[in-house]
Amino acid sequence: MSVERIALVTGANKGIGFEIARQLGEQGGVVLVGARDEVRGKAAADALAGRGIAAVPLRLDVTDPASAAAAADAITERYGRLDVLVNNAGIAGAFTGPPSEATAGDLREVYETNVFGVLTVTNAMLPLLRRSAAGRVVNLSSHVGSLTLNADPRSPMANLNMIAYQSSKTALNALTIAYAKELRETPIKVNAANPGSVATDINAHRGQRTPAEGAAIAVRLALLDASGPSGASLADEGNVPW
Ligand code: NDP
Repeated sequence: MSVERIALVTGANKGIGFEIARQLGEQGGVVLVGARDEVRGKAAADALAGRGIAAVPLRLDVTDPASAAAAADAITERYGRLDVLVNNAGIAGAFTGPPSEATAGDLREVYETNVFGVLTVTNAMLPLLRRSAAGRVVNLSSHVGSLTLNADPRSPMANLNMIAYQSSKTALNALTIAYAKELRETPIKVNAANPGSVATDINAHRGQRTPAEGAAIAVRLALLDASGPSGASLADEGNVPW
């Protein structure tokens, strides 16, 4: 078995995911550039390869179980295992208001990608991660999903009420803890990365940080050694309260 790291980043064709793929790839190993659109995925992988990174495009729509199964089959055939899974793909959704104005469908739309997509992809990849000596799963969460910050009237989250997106990240945090518990007797670590407010398409480039800055915490968690945490939520500044 090769000792080269095999990493998969979902939604890696742009934004924070592209930067995670770049920073991981710069530290060696193969980076599978997950993208739901084949053309965008190939363009991103080509751009990374142009920088000397071993980047390989992989078609993966996280909302489609058949796509996740096909991606897992392709990884099994080519590499036989997976060392790092970064669940980065995410959407804000069309609805950005408070709960009294939302429909169940507004939440469902966002959950399909940000929550159910993570469950689908993680479960498809777990058999491959179990074959790694040091499997790492990193879920791209957000400070806006922290229940503690949302309930604190002094926090910047006090006046933010985007129920669909925010609660999707809260649910993602719950998934992170649940997987960490299930896998605690294995070498696999599962953590949530909080990139901060990053200027990308998801927020019409209104964030303050660069994608490279936002990617750094996810890369750190992807490369944790055996002494690192599992079931934690981290940002550059340290732990983010659940
Ligand atoms: P972008 O909109 O720039 O990128 C989102 C990526 O997810 C794109 O590659 C997009 O692909 C992909 N994607 C969306 N739906 C699917 C799907 N069904 N299957 C596969 N890929 C999909 O946003 P960011 O880079 O900002 O976001 C990355 C992650 O970071 C998200 O989970 C987001 O919630 C999280 N985050 C972002 C913050 C920020 O301030 N930007 C703050 C906190 C967390 P396509 O190009 O095809 O649409």
